Amino acid sequence: MDHFNIEMVNSVVDSDRLSSQPNTRSININDIRTDDCLIKRSRSVDNAFLEASSCESTSRKRRQRHNNHRCVGYVYSMAYADVAALLPSNYDRSLLVHSLIEAYDIWNRVIIISPYAATDDELAAFHSSDFVEFMLQAEKYDENVKQNTKSTSDEESSYEELLSDYGLEHDCPVFKGLGEYIRLVVGSTIAAAQALNKGAVDVVIHWDGGRHHAKKSSAQGFCYVNDIVIGIIELRKKFDKILYIDLDLHHGDGVESAFLYSDKILTLSFHHYAVGFYPGTGKLNDIGHGLGLYHTINVPLKRGLNGSLFRRIFSQVTKQTFEAFRPDAIIIQCGCDGLAGDPSREWNLDIDNFGKCVRQVVEWNKPTLVLGGGGYNHANVARCNAYITSLLTNTPISEDIPEHKYFEEYGPDFSLLIDPGNQQDTNDEDYIVSILSTIEKYLETVRSKRESYHQRDISKS
Ligand SMILES: [Zn+2]
Repeated sequence: MDHFNIEMVNSVVDSDRLSSQPNTRSININDIRTDDCLIKRSRSVDNAFLEASSCESTSRKRRQRHNNHRCVGYVYSMAYADVAALLPSNYDRSLLVHSLIEAYDIWNRVIIISPYAATDDELAAFHSSDFVEFMLQAEKYDENVKQNTKSTSDEESSYEELLSDYGLEHDCPVFKGLGEYIRLVVGSTIAAAQALNKGAVDVVIHWDGGRHHAKKSSAQGFCYVNDIVIGIIELRKKFDKILYIDLDLHHGDGVESAFLYSDKILTLSFHHYAVGFYPGTGKLNDIGHGLGLYHTINVPLKRGLNGSLFRRIFSQVTKQTFEAFRPDAIIIQCGCDGLAGDPSREWNLDIDNFGKCVRQVVEWNKPTLVLGGGGYNHANVARCNAYITSLLTNTPISEDIPEHKYFEEYGPDFSLLIDPGNQQDTNDEDYIVSILSTIEKYLETVRSKRESYHQRDISKS
């Protein structure tokens, strides 16, 4: 069953929560002609044909050759942004992100994909059923315990134990809207993956997704459910080999551990690694197990990492990984907590280099799902997400933040770009050369394995 609806967008002024909202018209997936991205409105609306402004009726191959007419899907609805904005670690961030992208007028260059609420079974594609059941009911339990003055101490302590077992404490507190949030964040990544599976779009952006820390039966690190793992499972229904790239400051541990034994999914995480730094995993010599040996690649980096060095490392490692593994589809998690100005204060990345890393991946012309992630300086996350969206849609945008409802959040300079910090980069050349050469050796094994499979397939046929 397909769960994504595509909507054509024309911005119309409506000053409610965002300064304006898209004037959307739902289109059923069954009405999509996938060879040329021509989209027909649902017959229930009328019989007219509509053509996506960014997707001329050229063939996919021709579009990719010219490279300037990429079909970009964008997961959004105002109702979903309101729910995503409730996430305690990123309260209101979603509203800043989408409103800045709308203010830059990029929405007429994308195809809006409607968010979708995942079913219990879809959540259980990765998570355990008891975890799903508890997560969906947690806010109700929480309300009952708080309101029921007659609760016995036994009942309260058993509830506390369950909260602890399922990770719903400390950085993942129960919040009002949790059940709806987890259904939407997972369902929307599923809808995005299905749009890629159908070939309706070349790239999908889902800025509210990218929750890379959640485990099978535990919420962790601001991540209640792991939409990425479920998105990869969905992509695997169509594509054989998936490359997962994680740009977040923190190691992509939840995704890595889910696919540790698989040679069909290669996980590549660039992250800050230091004693005591969350989550404490992602060492250079963590390389997967069994069939999945060498299909886990970790790039542990040190304090003060600057944007140009990050791009140099990223460019070399991802290119080598792409050539060795030859994925059929890609997911890239774009956590922005490594940017200068983030409260984490570990790395010193700039928006221009970060954005161009993402563009490099998309220019390989594989079906690509672009997700959000961490990032706690919300204005900087919105700047970075808007910049990436502009790069992927080939929409030049001004360095001056346009006036809109959240304009004042971007002071005092009101610029798209951010000042680089003056933190010292502790990643010296010897360290970088050493990790790059180790990773190159790992990837040689990935390449040899792929080539031997290829040879075996040829001799069988
Ligand atoms: Zn993070």
